[in-house]
Amino acid sequence: MTQHDCLFCKIVSGDVPATVVRESARTLAFRDINPQAPTHVLVIPKEHHPTAAELAASDGDLLAEIVREAHEVAVDDGVAGTGYRVVFNTGPGAGQTVFHVHAHVLGGRGLNWPPG
Ligand code: C5P
Repeated sequence: MTQHDCLFCKIVSGDVPATVVRESARTLAFRDINPQAPTHVLVIPKEHHPTAAELAASDGDLLAEIVREAHEVAVDDGVAGTGYRVVFNTGPGAGQTVFHVHAHVLGGRGLNWPPG
């Protein structure tokens, strides 16, 4: 399922370039174009689902796979041992700007709590 006006669907199809770091049959991981930490990777499902909540309701296994892939990104980048953060911004008030669900994987520097 692809949505033609969706930026991340275009990354999946190769119409928009991205620096891909991992790929599975159902997921893609690529470096964020505007990194907020030394490791800042987005893990997305190849299928179009707008938010984490909607994906959780329709395909929990795929959401779990995204979280597993996020951990493998952290391992690959050498930040799993010190700690990393996985963030699903959900809705405009939380800063979601691309409505194709994506896990931000952030690491490689100290991460404050609460986030801004
Ligand atoms: O959570 P939010 O929807 O704001 O995250 C979208 C992310 O997608 C941003 O961090 C932005 O830098 C990133 N992005 C990207 N490549 C693009 C367009 C946006 O990595 N071509």
